[in-house]
Amino acid sequence: MDAEARPSLRDLPSVDQVLKSEAALEAAERFGRAPLTVAIRAAIEEVRACVLAGQLAAMPTPDHVALAAAEQLELGSRASLRPVFNLTGTVLHTNLGRAVLAEAAVEAASAAMRSAVALEYDLGTGTRGERDDHVRDMLIELTGAEDATVVNNNAAAVLLVLNTLGAGKGAIVSRGELIEIGGAFRMPDIMARAGVRLVEVGTTNRTHAKDYLGALDADTGLILKVHTSNYRIEGFTKEVGARELSAIARAHGVPLVNDLGSGTLADLARLGIGREPTVRDCVAEGADIVTFSGDKLLGGPQTGFIVGRADLIAALNRNPMKRALRVDKIRLAALEATLKLYRDPDTLKDRLPTLRLLARPMEEIRTLAEALAMPVAALLGDGYAVAVVDCASQIGSGALPQETLPSAGLALRPVDGSGRALAALASALRRLERPVVGRIAEGALLLDLRCLEDPRGLLDSLAGLPLAPLPA
Ligand SMILES: *Cc1c(COP(=O)(O)O)cnc(C)c1O
Repeated sequence: MDAEARPSLRDLPSVDQVLKSEAALEAAERFGRAPLTVAIRAAIEEVRACVLAGQLAAMPTPDHVALAAAEQLELGSRASLRPVFNLTGTVLHTNLGRAVLAEAAVEAASAAMRSAVALEYDLGTGTRGERDDHVRDMLIELTGAEDATVVNNNAAAVLLVLNTLGAGKGAIVSRGELIEIGGAFRMPDIMARAGVRLVEVGTTNRTHAKDYLGALDADTGLILKVHTSNYRIEGFTKEVGARELSAIARAHGVPLVNDLGSGTLADLARLGIGREPTVRDCVAEGADIVTFSGDKLLGGPQTGFIVGRADLIAALNRNPMKRALRVDKIRLAALEATLKLYRDPDTLKDRLPTLRLLARPMEEIRTLAEALAMPVAALLGDGYAVAVVDCASQIGSGALPQETLPSAGLALRPVDGSGRALAALASALRRLERPVVGRIAEGALLLDLRCLEDPRGLLDSLAGLPLAPLPA
C-alpha cells in the first residue's frame, strides 16, 4: 500500500466526536460518562500510536473507537476475584482458594454478612459472650478434646501455640519434620518469630526416643510433632510415634503439640479416599494440643483450629496475639454450618463439596467427559482435537501427596501440534469471563473433570471463546 493511502493524524477523531457516536451514547448509560471519556481518550491514543507506526489501513470511525473503549470498560468491570472452573485435577488447590464451601455454609455466611449477629453476645443472659462459643462445643464433640479455639488459619494456630507455650524457651522438633508448607511458612522461621528457640533432634531420616530424651532440659517449653503432610521420607527411616512421644513429654511435664495440617474429622478410608489421621486419633494418642486447617480436608472456610487441654487453651486465649489472629463473623458463620454437617456422617459426603468431589466415582467422571467431548470440540473449532482420557486427580494442600485418585477428562490438542497453539488455547481459556483452568501435560491441555459439577456452565463459558482461526 502506498504511503498516501494511509490515514493521517489529521483524520484522528476527537473525544467529542466519539462521545457523540451511537455506541458512546449506549456505553455512557452503562459505565457513566466520566469513565467513558477517560477510556475514549486512551482508545484514541492507541489509534494515534498505530497511525504513527503505519499499522492502520483505514482510520476507525468514532463508533469503532467508542466500541473499543466500551470493551476496555467491560473488561475492567469484571471482578478480579471471580469464579473459575478448577479443572486442574487438584481438588484442594491452594492457589484456587482450596475448599469450595457447602451450600449451608454459603447461606450462613451471607446471612451473617447482611445482618447484625450475636457474635460476642450471649442471647441467654444479655451479657458479653465469646466468639468461640459458636463452635467450641461442636469441636469438642467432633475431636474428643477438652477444649478448642479458632484463629485465622493453621499458620496462625502454630504461631499462637508456639508463642504461648514456648516463648523464651526451647521447642524440640525432629529434623525429619522441619517442614516448609509453601509461601513463607517454614517451621524454623515461624519458631523464630514466635520467640521460641528451635531445638533440632535426630537426623533427616531417623529420630529416636533417646534423641528427644537427650534434648529435654529445664529450658524446654514444648515438644512439637509436625505431620509431614506434603512429603514422605522413605527407606531407612524411624520416627517416634505420638503415643510414645506423649509419654516422654508427660514424664518431663512439658506439653506435646501436634501440628496436623490437613486434619480431617471424617474417616476418609470409609469414603475410599485413603488414610489420613483424624484429629480424634491425634487427640486420643495423647497430644496436649492439636492444630489443623479449616479449608483443607475439613472442607470449610480458611481457619486454624487449636484443640486440646483446657488449661493450655485458656492460656492461648489470654495471649494478646489471639486478638490479632481472630476470625470474623462471616467465616465463623460458615464454619459453624460446615461443622454441623459432620454430625451426620451418612449425608456428609453428599453435602460437603470437598468430600463429594474426592469420593466422586471415576465412572461418573468418565461419563461426563464422554458427554462433553463433542460439544467442546465444536466450540474449539477445527484447530483443536478433543479426546476423552483417563487421568489422575490429587487431593491437594499437601494431603496424601503420594496418592492419586483415578479420574477422567478431556485432552485438548492443537492439530498442528505446536506449543504456541497450545499456550494460546490455555491463555484464551484463562481469559474467559469465567476462566477455565486446566493443566498442560504431554502436548495437550488436560481438563480433569473431577471438580466439574456444572457442565452446562462450562459449555456456556467456552462459547465465549474467540473462535480459533482455522489452520491455513
Ligand atoms: C497446611 C499446613 C500448615 C499451614 O496451614 P494454613 O491453614 O495453610 O495456614 C501448617 N502445618 C502443616 C503440617 C500443614 O499441612
